[in-house]
Amino acid sequence: MGNSTLLIGMHVSGQTLQAALVDASGQIIQRREDTLSPENIIEQAAFVVRELSANRGEISALGFAIPGLVNRQTDVVIMSRDLPASVREGLHSELGRATGLRVELENDANAAAYGEFKVGAGKESRDIFYMMIGNGIGGAIILDGKLWTGSSGFAGEVGHITIDAEGLECICGNTGCLETVASAPSIVRRARERLDCVFDVGGGRDGTGHHFDCERRRGGFCSAKEVVIRGCLRVGHKSHALKTRRDFLEHRQPLANDASLVLQHAGKISARPSEARDEA
Ligand SMILES: [Zn+2]
Repeated sequence: MGNSTLLIGMHVSGQTLQAALVDASGQIIQRREDTLSPENIIEQAAFVVRELSANRGEISALGFAIPGLVNRQTDVVIMSRDLPASVREGLHSELGRATGLRVELENDANAAAYGEFKVGAGKESRDIFYMMIGNGIGGAIILDGKLWTGSSGFAGEVGHITIDAEGLECICGNTGCLETVASAPSIVRRARERLDCVFDVGGGRDGTGHHFDCERRRGGFCSAKEVVIRGCLRVGHKSHALKTRRDFLEHRQPLANDASLVLQHAGKISARPSEARDEA
């Protein structure tokens, strides 16, 4: 591989197609980022290749990383949350046809791990475990300077280890995978579930039970004199408490503008209004 060798790397991630033109040493010559068009990913990739290679000379190969599992023997995408079924199976061959390049299709965690090993944070190490936490959870293993994919081809995919047998169904078909609990969307979903639970609000002095919706999905607020938010505020970080209080104060009805809010956490009052201001 001579010094004039140029390569293009692409990464599909959520709504984005990232691409870079690199030389043989891994130095990035040019990069670009486009909004992903999943249904037209072949045409989009070919367009990006043309844009990056214009007046640059010959491109040797295209590395294409996707969030999903790829059969390394057949180059067939087995599973991917971000790619529609219509493009998965023929992705490798279609990319080759459309770009005219040799294409290496790879799981994005594997590709990222190898990149870190070659030119990034892991270049001083021969043995690396890599984790990628985003819309999903990917993992990869570099052993003695080689990507270790194991007999199945999916070694290092820690995102699909079952950690909750009673948990949610995962995109992989299993139940309660780490990804269903600790990926970024899963963390947000669980936080929302807990906050929704918080909105089971006890009644005020008029004895009427009401619901207070911090996110305003259920509209306005009651005329209760005092609102006690209780239950599963396990995520009761101070910032959450303060935001809840700000929303409460902002959206309470004008006729109840002397209503107060008490956040009750694990059986004790965690932040009265004056304390919250003090803590802020
Ligand atoms: Zn899974």
